[in-house]
Amino acid sequence: MNEIKIFCPATVANLSCGFDVLGLCLEGIGDEMIIRKSDEKGIRITKITGADLPLETNKNVAGVAGLAMLNHLDLEFGFEIEIHKKIKAGSGIGSSAASAAGVVVGINELLGNPLHRKDLIPFAMEGEFLASGSYHADNVAPAILGGFTLVRSYEPLEVIKINSPKDLYVTIIHPHIEVKTSEARNILPKEIALKTAITQWGNLGGFISGLYTEDYALMGRCLQDVVAEPYRKNLIPEFNNVKKSALENGALGCGISGSGPSIYALSKGIQTSKNVGNKMKEVYLKTGIEYAIYVSKVCDKGVKMI
Ligand code: ADP
Repeated sequence: MNEIKIFCPATVANLSCGFDVLGLCLEGIGDEMIIRKSDEKGIRITKITGADLPLETNKNVAGVAGLAMLNHLDLEFGFEIEIHKKIKAGSGIGSSAASAAGVVVGINELLGNPLHRKDLIPFAMEGEFLASGSYHADNVAPAILGGFTLVRSYEPLEVIKINSPKDLYVTIIHPHIEVKTSEARNILPKEIALKTAITQWGNLGGFISGLYTEDYALMGRCLQDVVAEPYRKNLIPEFNNVKKSALENGALGCGISGSGPSIYALSKGIQTSKNVGNKMKEVYLKTGIEYAIYVSKVCDKGVKMI
């Protein structure tokens, strides 16, 4: 096999009580990439559609992540990449992570899978470093592994994958406004009160337990973020009203996706999830803010061959 076409999924990171550690993989929302072997060493990005992103290898997260993997494998040949973007950069649903995850899984497939998926995460994190200036795995881990992922530790890197309960659906609303990741970072306090920390880790433990036992009500009670949301919600217009209408219409929980501006809600069953989406969008219809809306199952596979 010399060429492969892959689907690179969008992801939700910073899942409320799992701020900075817990993410999930979406199904049906994502980019496509074509990766082909070439005699020339290194990585060349030959085509990008759907977004105005750099073709230079060292300025594109896909190029940087791919090169990190090639350096590790020390190959005598290289790869050409086409990126077909569907996920808008800066939307808060892992646009850069989709490219970084796609390239490493795609190259691994073309080579006959010499590496386990978990071992690909550090290469994809090099791409995230380019996009954000920090090595984080909360979007690339769910994009590569699928399901829910918990980054238990960075040194050493330990990521735990948890399969999604089968009736869990995600609604995403992306208001078309810009939230700068740097501002979303800077707005957070450097320290938190012990009482706040206790609330957050109680909820995170409870949520993880709810995932394993498929206890939807428990998941709902735990989907609270007392650490980042109280500050970051001020960067997203109508956040309180969108969240209120999601919860009033049956969502288990609702919060900021990544560092925003997208807002996610989790629901039991597709019908509730669609209804929650309709109610969330009514809030933005009233204000005239443009938006995009998605309803998706949690994808248990991560990057897929198509
Ligand atoms: P999101 O908020 O959806 O997670 P990110 O903030 O992760 O999006 O990534 C967007 C940044 O990464 C932008 O500055 C963009 O120019 C840069 N970037 C570089 N290469 C890519 C790529 N292949 N796909 C998306 N973004 C890229």
